[in-house]
Amino acid sequence: MDDTIKTKKQLIDELKKLRRKVSHLEKLKVKDRKEEKAFSESEEKYRTTFESTGTATVIAEEDTTLSMVNSEFERLCGYSREKIEGKKSWIEFVVKEDLERMKEYHRQRRTEEGAAPTNYEFRFVDRHGNIKEIFLTIAVIPGTKKSVVSLLDITERKLMEKTLNERVKELNCLYGISGLTEKPDISLEKIVQGTVDLIPPSWQYPDITCARIIIEGKEYTTENFRETEWVQTADVTTHGRRAGTVEVYYLEERPQSDEGPFLKEARNLLYEIAERLGKIAERKRAEGALRESEESYRSLQANIPVGIFRTTADPEGHLLSVNPALARMFGYDNPEAMSETRVADLYMNHDDRKKFVEAVSSGGAISNYEVQFKRNDGTPFWGSLNARAITDGSGKVAYFDGVLEDITEHKRAEEALRKEKEKAQSYLDIAGVMFVVIGSDQKVSLINKRGGEILGYSEEDIVGKNWFDNFLPERIREDIKARFDVLMAGEKESDPYFENPILTKDGEERIILWHNTILTDDSAKIIGTLSSGEDITERKQYFSDLNEYSKALESLLKERSEFFSMASHELRTPITVVNGYLDIIERNLENMDNAQIHETLKKVMEHSERLTLLVETLLDISKIDDPKFTLPSELCKIEPIVKRALNLCEHQAQEKQITCHFGGFDCGGGKPCVIGDALAIENVLLNILGNAIKYSNEGSEVIIRCDTEDDTLRIDCIDQGIGLPPGVEERIFEEFYRVEQGGELKKSGHGLGLSIARRLVERMGGRIWAHSEGLNKGTTVSFTLPLAKSENLTEKE
Ligand code: ADP
Repeated sequence: MDDTIKTKKQLIDELKKLRRKVSHLEKLKVKDRKEEKAFSESEEKYRTTFESTGTATVIAEEDTTLSMVNSEFERLCGYSREKIEGKKSWIEFVVKEDLERMKEYHRQRRTEEGAAPTNYEFRFVDRHGNIKEIFLTIAVIPGTKKSVVSLLDITERKLMEKTLNERVKELNCLYGISGLTEKPDISLEKIVQGTVDLIPPSWQYPDITCARIIIEGKEYTTENFRETEWVQTADVTTHGRRAGTVEVYYLEERPQSDEGPFLKEARNLLYEIAERLGKIAERKRAEGALRESEESYRSLQANIPVGIFRTTADPEGHLLSVNPALARMFGYDNPEAMSETRVADLYMNHDDRKKFVEAVSSGGAISNYEVQFKRNDGTPFWGSLNARAITDGSGKVAYFDGVLEDITEHKRAEEALRKEKEKAQSYLDIAGVMFVVIGSDQKVSLINKRGGEILGYSEEDIVGKNWFDNFLPERIREDIKARFDVLMAGEKESDPYFENPILTKDGEERIILWHNTILTDDSAKIIGTLSSGEDITERKQYFSDLNEYSKALESLLKERSEFFSMASHELRTPITVVNGYLDIIERNLENMDNAQIHETLKKVMEHSERLTLLVETLLDISKIDDPKFTLPSELCKIEPIVKRALNLCEHQAQEKQITCHFGGFDCGGGKPCVIGDALAIENVLLNILGNAIKYSNEGSEVIIRCDTEDDTLRIDCIDQGIGLPPGVEERIFEEFYRVEQGGELKKSGHGLGLSIARRLVERMGGRIWAHSEGLNKGTTVSFTLPLAKSENLTEKE
């Protein structure tokens, strides 16, 4: 075994020997006093110097024992001086890895001067096993085998250096990336390739590090790239979305560190690189877009037919930039030619510039500001301005950006169109018919004056409203809407004419006869209808009235002609009879005696009277039928009238032993009065009483009875006579109608009595009707008259 490398046991034995030696020596009576004193002084000095070095210092013997240590060393190793001096070897304070090297130095230093380094680093182990980085300075005390060693704890510094080194690597890498991006016009590809190459030197083990960046689908790698199991990756994101990855691989295995073999600083750097790449990619893309948009803006500005400008914001105004179109608009060859021109001078009226400045400055922007400008040659033109005030950081208006359009032509066309429209509007307004334009959205887009008049609204109140919902009666709304939608869909052609009612503001309905035209745009798409409508409400009414009149007239004429044919028939009969008798007398006058002549003349007289009566009756009818005929409307006590009529019929009744009497009032209480004409009422009563007697058998009874019914008084004339066959109850009130009954028709009469009675009752506001249970079951003829109201309701006795 090499004698420099001793076993622990050997060392302990050696130490024991030494201790024994030392205690033996201590027991010896040494040297003379003087020598002792000098030594002690010198040792004192030596120790003081030793103590005050400020660094851990030791004296190491040739056998590696530490014979002297200072308090700094005590602090460094954690043992007290007593426990070290002469007892410990420096070997136990050195980490295993460094020990061989140091032992070798130790040996060299003592065999050959200058052979071993006087400064070097090693790792020190203290009492607690803590490892410290030490910078060692060593010198052999001349003439001895001892060495003076100073130990500087550089652990902190080393750590800082290491960190710093990593940080420097990181910074180098990041600076490198920044440097790449600063190069003008460098492409994203070059930046990424540069970045990937910057990665390995920045990692802990550059030689075995390779990297790959995948961004926007493209792959960039270092030359030595190879995929291995030792990898660190980070995502690259642009605009919050994953756009790629940065991957760092170690090509060989390395000791475990913070993240596999990687340092945590490397992780941070990786994130930093990924983040920067994301930002660079975003910026590059934005730059590309910006360049493109700048280019297109530049070409737009140069080629656009509208003027683009930037001017100062003062009323006088300087042109900061204008495009060629603006220069041309003002009659200059190019933008440079007008650079000296004041903006206000471009306005026909200087004040307009001032107004414009105020408007833009206060509102921030202005659009479609129409104003007259002046060309270089002084001629005016109309322009439309759109401008924006651009403010500086302090909010002050810095300049105006805007667009100017020459609208002279447009204005002219607009004016022509306006005139054209006015003309059309005036035609529309004087039109007697209404015009409505309804868009496919069912809203009114135009209506003329007449339309407004008919509807009763002002034009403004109509335009923009849904035509159907607002101006059509509800009951037809949905139906007409559906028809309109069919028209708009082009599924059906419009009926050229149709009628429908519209609803006016007053809620009145007017009937309009419409004529429809479908409106289409330039591409033949249906956009609405133009309808002209004529108010035919009155005309319609007139026609319908006319129709009714003509119908009434027709039936009247029919009735009349029937009446006249019946009347002439009725008249002719007695005349024929009279003529017959007169003829007999004339031809047989000589052969006839006076009595015969008298008899015949009596018959002539009878028929002539009958004729007269008939003529009078006919005259009565025509009188009542005259529209000018009126009956007096008076308060009439009914009882006396009934009684008088009964009296007048008494003789006729007696002839047939018929009793006629007044059955009184069924209503009880007082005696009601009616409103009418007493004579007419008597006439009606005489007529129906006469019939009751005429059509009753001898010895029977006729009763008149009164009853109130609502606000009328009903008068019934009840007989027990021959009655009426079914189906004639109404017909007996027609002129000349008489019931044909075996033999009974021979009874005198013309069938006019009841028709006169009907006319009179109706004239007084009443109703008349007959009822019979059948032949020989008697007949009741009833009529009503309006009851008198108020205090005169009943007759006071
Ligand atoms: P006339 O002169 O024939 O009586 P009216 O107009 O008074 O004419 O009556 C029309 C017809 O009505 C009569 O011809 C008769 O056939 C029928 N008539 C009217 N009153 C009665 C009655 N009380 N009973 C039965 N028939 C009647």
